Amino acid sequence: MKTRAAVLWAKNEDWKIEEVELGEPGPTEVIVKTAFAGLCHSDEHLVTGDIDVDQSVLELLGVEHFLPIIGGHEGSGVVAQVGSAVTSVAVGDHVSCSFIPSCGTCHWCSTGRQNLCDLGAATLAGGMMADGQYKHQTNGTDLNRMAQLGTFSEHMLLSESSVIKVDDDLPLDVVALVSCGVATGVGSAQNRAEVKAGDTVVVVGIGGIGANAVQGAKLAGAANVVAVDTNPNRKEKAEEFGATHFYDSFDEAIMSVMEMTHGRMADSAILTPGVTTGDLLEPALNVISKDGTVVVTGLAPMQQRDVKLDLFGLSMYNKQIKGSIFGSGSPRAEIPRLLNEYRRGALKLEELITERYQLDDINTGYADMRNGKNIRGVIAFD
Ligand SMILES: [Zn+2]
Ligand SMILES: [Zn+2]
Repeated sequence: MKTRAAVLWAKNEDWKIEEVELGEPGPTEVIVKTAFAGLCHSDEHLVTGDIDVDQSVLELLGVEHFLPIIGGHEGSGVVAQVGSAVTSVAVGDHVSCSFIPSCGTCHWCSTGRQNLCDLGAATLAGGMMADGQYKHQTNGTDLNRMAQLGTFSEHMLLSESSVIKVDDDLPLDVVALVSCGVATGVGSAQNRAEVKAGDTVVVVGIGGIGANAVQGAKLAGAANVVAVDTNPNRKEKAEEFGATHFYDSFDEAIMSVMEMTHGRMADSAILTPGVTTGDLLEPALNVISKDGTVVVTGLAPMQQRDVKLDLFGLSMYNKQIKGSIFGSGSPRAEIPRLLNEYRRGALKLEELITERYQLDDINTGYADMRNGKNIRGVIAFD
């Protein structure tokens, strides 16, 4: 079938809306009519080249090119067609896309860590996960899809392992957001930083992920949730999601945390800036207490290797630095759990959406994100 999608052809170019030919779904594949797609910062990383796959890695994957790629890895929709062996969803089901597929049977899935599923290796680039075949083409050119999804598309051909059935009564815009920013942010606080009642938590970078780390920390009972963002306009949003303090400089936040904890410092710091740079590690380690935790969630440029930190203090103060993907939780457990938290009024999700766009206006949406106007913009499909 034919569909329309936003395709990136080269670094630092605009997204282009193309007519895309979708193949027939294989036995374990589905076609989803997209309802909403979130404009996440990670797709912007494709444009800037912060995510740029080295030729040697592509060769290892048996893939010829990284670009062109259909963007988008947050999405929701309604199942329109299913392959003969699909069991977890049926036509008409509402689904959330998961940028981490889960096979259910690999070592990681079977030990409760679906966010580390071995299928994740296939999400960088390449054809369909089942057989490596390319089933997305425009004018005969094979297209990759962001995270094996490509939600910036009116219809999506996906592996069953990338879709999660959700209740029909949930608004699909909220269902789209929960699949990346919400799960990642809330999970960074609850699953990875393991925030406990009474904790002091510092969240650095209040965008789509950081706002959710703030509400995750609040929901876990943190006494102080200190938000840090160089953009002072983020103060209001940070407070709406549960921040008790806001600073536009890290140094100020450190001084304030010292005061509010009587010198003990924060239990955890969660790094969720648009781009994580190596110079953020040192102040993050300085703002946490002995035995404290730094969680690194925001993506760094793929080529970055340099980090500055007090290595002596890391061991002497028993501190830890942890990376986090998908909020360190299992998509098939976290997405329904977070939607239930939304349903009972504990999680704010509608409030995350600052603007809605048509697919054709996607470049305006990303310009708004770059200018700091959006916590989360979404593409609304008809
Ligand atoms: Zn994302
Ligand atoms: Zn797996």
